[in-house]
Amino acid sequence: MAAKEKHITDIGPPHYRDMVHPVLLKNYGKWRYHEYVAPGVIKHVSMNGEEVYMVRAAIPKIVSVYFVRELCDIADKYSDGYVKFTSRHNVEFIVANKNKLEGLLKELKEKGWVVGGTGRSLKAIIHTQGWVHCHTAIIDAPGLAKALYDELYEYFVRDDLPGKLKIAIACCLNMCGAVHCSDLAFVGMHRKPPVVNDDIVSRLCEIPTLVASCPTAAIRPAPEKKSVVVNEERCMYCGNCYTVCPGMFIHNPKYDCLSMWVGGNAVAGGPPEFSRLAIPYLPNNPPRWPEAVQAARNVIDTWIKHAKKGERIGDWIKRIGWERFFTLTGIQFTDKHIDDFIFAVPTFRTTTLFKWR
Ligand code: SF4
Ligand code: SF4
Repeated sequence: MAAKEKHITDIGPPHYRDMVHPVLLKNYGKWRYHEYVAPGVIKHVSMNGEEVYMVRAAIPKIVSVYFVRELCDIADKYSDGYVKFTSRHNVEFIVANKNKLEGLLKELKEKGWVVGGTGRSLKAIIHTQGWVHCHTAIIDAPGLAKALYDELYEYFVRDDLPGKLKIAIACCLNMCGAVHCSDLAFVGMHRKPPVVNDDIVSRLCEIPTLVASCPTAAIRPAPEKKSVVVNEERCMYCGNCYTVCPGMFIHNPKYDCLSMWVGGNAVAGGPPEFSRLAIPYLPNNPPRWPEAVQAARNVIDTWIKHAKKGERIGDWIKRIGWERFFTLTGIQFTDKHIDDFIFAVPTFRTTTLFKWR
């Protein structure tokens, strides 16, 4: 019998070392120092004196093939065909030849690319998929990101803020973005339990899977109608059940909203800080979400005015206390800030609990 041809079916991603710029590879683990040359430009110097310049530019999270072609053309011209994507959706051109730096910056400017986001600046906004790509989205995260960028653009191109400013947006509680550990974040929220459509549930959904999908065990079977019932006391409006069964209607234009969170942080070398609730309700008001944008601007401008150099929003709040945070920002502290959910005990340390004077 002829030997079977060997098919490789699971090749996975290429090894990252195959994609690293040769100068970076040569000096891997041997960098001596780096300096911020200008907003968006970082110079790295290695032990053997070699230099490389990183030019960081903001890009949208969802891009077209034409955009990628333009990106590759620029990389071929200035950075030997190498680019790097950062964890916050920026792109970095690696310029090993200093003489090409000015040309790259000039071309990026001419083409409308924005260079910045290094040091004490606004980083690119992390956001989730929104209405185009995900069926559980309450808000359109990319749309809100655009509205925020338009308002906060200046903070991306300057690096004299008190500290780094990381913003994240998630369109539902599944929170595919880094909302829990960003300085300022928005989360789309349902505020009512799902309405069960028995007809759809009985015809389209697997009852055991649906029951198992609920993280708080709020769903139990209703065998008499081949459907389920929801214990509203236990429901936290997460929408997980809707993900596995389209008969669990959870979207509600009248009640769905945004919430704003502040003070999250995930710095290397220290424990992560969870974001905490600052505003429980903001209207879901597309296409520009003016109330949410204004709320973000208010917190950011208050932080810039009152924080010490090096303090991120969470550090600043920790120093002045939550009570003063609410006073300075003019945000109302309400009963909604107090976590009274039946499973609240494990989350007490992640809320804005404090003793009001
Ligand atoms: S956050 Fe929710 S709605 Fe947005 S992409 Fe993730 S699962 Fe979908
Ligand atoms: S919305 Fe979440 S908590 Fe409520 S019933 Fe569905 S899965 Fe359970």
